[in-house]
Amino acid sequence: MTTQSEIIAHTEKVSAHNYSPLPVVLSRGEGVWVWDVDGKKYLDCLSGYSSLNQGHRHPAIIDALVQQAGQLTMTSRAFYNDRMGPFLDRLCGLAGMDMALPMNTGMEAVETAIKIARRWAYRIKGVEADKAEIIVCEENFHGRTTTIISFSSELQYKDGFGPLTPGFKIIPFGDAAALEAAITPNTAAFMVEPIQGEAGINIPPEGFLAEARRICSEHNVLFIADEIQTGLARTGRMFCYQHDDGAKPDMLVVGKALGGGVYPVSATLASAEIMNVIQPGDHGSTFGGNPLAAAVADRALQVIVDEKLADRSRELGEYLLDRLRGIRSNKIREIRGRGLFVGIEVEPEAGLAREYCERLVDLGVLTKDTHKQVMRLAPPLVIEKAELDWLLERLESVF
Ligand SMILES: *Cc1c(COP(=O)(O)O)cnc(C)c1O
Repeated sequence: MTTQSEIIAHTEKVSAHNYSPLPVVLSRGEGVWVWDVDGKKYLDCLSGYSSLNQGHRHPAIIDALVQQAGQLTMTSRAFYNDRMGPFLDRLCGLAGMDMALPMNTGMEAVETAIKIARRWAYRIKGVEADKAEIIVCEENFHGRTTTIISFSSELQYKDGFGPLTPGFKIIPFGDAAALEAAITPNTAAFMVEPIQGEAGINIPPEGFLAEARRICSEHNVLFIADEIQTGLARTGRMFCYQHDDGAKPDMLVVGKALGGGVYPVSATLASAEIMNVIQPGDHGSTFGGNPLAAAVADRALQVIVDEKLADRSRELGEYLLDRLRGIRSNKIREIRGRGLFVGIEVEPEAGLAREYCERLVDLGVLTKDTHKQVMRLAPPLVIEKAELDWLLERLESVF
């Protein structure tokens, strides 16, 4: 028999060391639970960074995958397929947008949004060639392409990867006055995560998104919401911007749970006026919009609606936050969150969040630290209240 440590040692030998996983080797998952190769069971409180809002191997999504695998899996966009249209129709309907451009991973959808915004700036707004600027926030996380890391404020993400892409400005997250001050006649767009996930579940001040929306409209700047992590019911609404009245973006970027945890699917959505700056040959992806992806994503969206996962997230999230705030511990600095998207910030004197995550592994709970001091809790949204109680007992014991 191969032990977990043998599997880990072998994996480390043949895989690039671009991650530092917790020492557990998983081989099965169902709903909110995963099992390691020794048969030990864990509650998944990370959900593949919110790729598994519908839970592991949701039967309806697996059914869509298998059905479609028996029909047609790949066409490329050289031809039409019968699954992409219905999928994008459902997605646009849920988002209140006219059109979507399907891609595969989150970073591709972000790149797509950047290209559309720049094209829009030159062709519609009238910005001089190669002068377009996009404003982003400190501690943003929008993916890992060379262009996207160019506007990261995290030094490690950029170190040794230059020359970087110009054309970006960084403002403090949640600072509407700084946004307004940063806008020039060359500004194409402001791109923001409604809640910063990788930065540690950072929630902006009340009303910030609506104010940013207003400022963008006033200055003819596109407002882009990166909802790859916060979207698709994670924070208690279908999209996180919907918590604020009047914050609807011009462009919406989705991914992660769009693929129901089984297949990478992402998309960039916009009005027809904006999306039509892209014409045949301007942009593309070999796998984007393939029928297997479309069938899976269409069903993944249907599950979110049918099972009212946004309502579940909102109700259970309130319960979880309430119970967490009731834990008396001098190791906890702050608890913050919206829906089942929660961060526990550990006091620096009490150690790193990673140490607490490691202790939770022993107790059968999987989650991950982000930015050293924050433990993220983002279980699949199909979780039951009794399972949250089970989690809370374990959190109480480590804190
Ligand atoms: C995960 C994430 C991305 C990148 O998605 P990938 O699929 O890893 O490329 C971009 N933006 C946000 C907000 C994310 O959480």
